[in-house]
Amino acid sequence: MARVKEHIRSLRAYTPGIQPKAGEQVIKLNTNENPYPPSPLVMHAIAQECKDRLRYYPDPTSTTLRKAISSIFNVPPECVLCGNGSDEILRILLATFTEKGDRIGYYQPSYSYYATLGSIHNLTLVPTPLGKDLTRPPFPNLANLSLFFLTNPNSPLGFSLTPEYVAKIARHLKGILVVDEAYADFARWNCLHLLKTCPNIIITRSLSKSYSLAGLRVGFALGAARWIRHMDKVRDHYNLSRVAQAAACAALTDRSHFEQNVQKVLRTRDRVSQALRAMGYEVLPSEANFLFVRPKGTRSARTIYQRLFRSGILVRYFDQPGLRDGLRITIGTDTEMDTLLAHLKTY
Ligand SMILES: *Cc1c(COP(=O)(O)O)cnc(C)c1O
Repeated sequence: MARVKEHIRSLRAYTPGIQPKAGEQVIKLNTNENPYPPSPLVMHAIAQECKDRLRYYPDPTSTTLRKAISSIFNVPPECVLCGNGSDEILRILLATFTEKGDRIGYYQPSYSYYATLGSIHNLTLVPTPLGKDLTRPPFPNLANLSLFFLTNPNSPLGFSLTPEYVAKIARHLKGILVVDEAYADFARWNCLHLLKTCPNIIITRSLSKSYSLAGLRVGFALGAARWIRHMDKVRDHYNLSRVAQAAACAALTDRSHFEQNVQKVLRTRDRVSQALRAMGYEVLPSEANFLFVRPKGTRSARTIYQRLFRSGILVRYFDQPGLRDGLRITIGTDTEMDTLLAHLKTY
């Protein structure tokens, strides 16, 4: 008789942030999307692709896109793997590097999808609690891990470990160190240069945040060809649609649009951080496109979340140890952030 596997029955699925229905008027600051449109070259590329080519399968190896990534990030094309969002890359990593019962590690809190994916693959989860002092997180428990997932910059807290610290983790780890750099474009540093010196590092990137393309679903991995070659066998052969490949190429190639977009977000981030601090909130220093904000005194984060929600402003509240005293607020446009600040002032 048909039967769902026992560990899937008991699985608690990943909970994405709320996505409003089409036409709903909300200020959406809950899932770290970019408030600005993607490069105009993206719309052009999509239109071209849709003209007469959609009846053909896409290029199974995303050759043009991988070449574009290769030249921008200065790595050989055989060190690049494209995914249907970097979420697919994470799944490919587990399918390639772990067997049932293996141990995978990550900091807690960090991106919670690692734990979900680990449970799906019947793995043992080894979280390292971050502790209170985020400027000096504890060295992670790395014993007998097949993989360690490092969200750097961290989400939902926003801090970024230095490349020196990341290299130290890599040296002490026998397995693969996945540096999830979904937010690295908003940070002062990243770990790309470590690919040359740390053979067990694989970096994942996403076009969802800094390229304004969350709806397109494109991410990629950078790592040694001897890893990428095997990961390549595990993905779906047509994992990126024609539209996704063409649009991603256009977005990556328009460097000036990308740089201006990121600069706008950073300016707003700094201005809003100061404004919130002036209002008495604790604002963690952020290397990403969001802020983790704690109200001081008697106001509870959950109450503020609910009041904002009723006013049509969505932010993220995580009801988990270490996070339930704060809110994660995505950086929106200046107008959106001013509306947020105005509401918070009345509370
Ligand atoms: C958004 C995010 C992802 C997923 O990115 P996609 O490319 O949209 O799948 C992965 N890791 C972290 C830490 C993220 O914040």
